Amino acid sequence: MPAYTEAIEQRLLADPVFLADIADAVGGPFHVLFPERVALNIKAFQQVFAAADVDGFVYFGKKANKAACVVRACAENGAGVDVASTGELVAAMAQGVRGEDLMVTGPAKSDELLWLAARQRALIAIDALDELERLAALDLPVRVLLRVLPEGSTSRFGLDPMELEQAIQAVKAPITLSGFSFHLSGYDAAARSEQAAALLGHCRRARANGHPADTISIGGGFGVDYLDASAWDEFRNALSDNWFHASPPGDYYPYHFPVPGAAMLDAILAHNNLAELLRDNGIRLAVEPGRALLDRAGSSVFRVQGVKTRIAQGNPYDILTVDGTSLSLSEQWFDSEYLPDPVLWPHTTGHLTPTCVGATTCLESDLLSRRRIPLPRRARTGDLLVYPNTAGYQMDSNESTFHELPLPPKVVLRADADRLRWSLDHTAR
Ligand SMILES: *Cc1c(COP(=O)(O)O)cnc(C)c1O
Repeated sequence: MPAYTEAIEQRLLADPVFLADIADAVGGPFHVLFPERVALNIKAFQQVFAAADVDGFVYFGKKANKAACVVRACAENGAGVDVASTGELVAAMAQGVRGEDLMVTGPAKSDELLWLAARQRALIAIDALDELERLAALDLPVRVLLRVLPEGSTSRFGLDPMELEQAIQAVKAPITLSGFSFHLSGYDAAARSEQAAALLGHCRRARANGHPADTISIGGGFGVDYLDASAWDEFRNALSDNWFHASPPGDYYPYHFPVPGAAMLDAILAHNNLAELLRDNGIRLAVEPGRALLDRAGSSVFRVQGVKTRIAQGNPYDILTVDGTSLSLSEQWFDSEYLPDPVLWPHTTGHLTPTCVGATTCLESDLLSRRRIPLPRRARTGDLLVYPNTAGYQMDSNESTFHELPLPPKVVLRADADRLRWSLDHTAR
């Protein structure tokens, strides 16, 4: 199941020495990021807003990746950042994101986060009534959105209808009610469009009470297309427990996603002509994509430390041990598995070899790939294994220093006209 990759990654993998040089310099597993791709992803969202003639704004959902070069790309390309902790807020501002371009979400925000957000004139998504009370006590001019619990949702986030009414009544100068927000799990365009239309009613009522209420944020959840349709269909139709070392995973991300990222925003705006509704009502639409802004913007690189051969149902397969852990691919945490095929580097020819990939820890279940991946040759100690398209959540949302292993640093890769250049991300210096 080969992943779609960016041209700069293909250049990196095709170069005879560049990847090995970085690996030697770092001396352990690492992640490589392509901020130029983040810029393209941001621009694709902005172009959809422009083409639909909708006043829109992109906030990057920062929890999806910690790299400094990603928020720098936001600052350089007119995107804001959606943060949920003081650490995220400070990291975004350190890369040049202006306070007014921050959206502060997250439940039960600490006093420290509210204070910083208010001082920096960030837009604050209110998730509970006491947040409003604590903000009012600061007596600072702040803009807020009220985060709505969507009808029929059992989420622990957002304000239910009664809390929402109380919140609308409670907002008083110097606090400004800028509008309403929601964040849905799942990846359904129509549901997001319909929920946005429902929030328009709240905006109208709030306006009748003298509030500006000119912003609706529809949160994140823009899908990413990792694999082509035929590879994904083939996998799902032929899926068998026998393909896995030990137990198979329970569930998977929809790795083939036909209308991803900015195209999904286009579908949301087209559904029931939401674009016109927003225009007619003078509403600015905010989006908070995390994963979608990181599509094809980074990969994770491990070195093979050991190779064993085992037999299952009479067929031999290899078990590799690499120099990192499955927490750098995150999905095992959700009883799932990251399915796009890793690339074995260097590319030399050999025999197709079913291979699963274990971590350098003493935990039986710590495997990066339980699936026996058909690698194009047998892996050897010292080879590199490159997991593609891991920038969205996979590479660092769950990393830990378990076993006193260092966290894999992030490397930034840029393409000059004649050559590639790499540097350490600010988070790795
Ligand atoms: C996680 C989150 C996002 C980003 O979600 P993605 O699925 O990565 O697009 C945006 N907004 C809020 C409030 C979130 O919690």
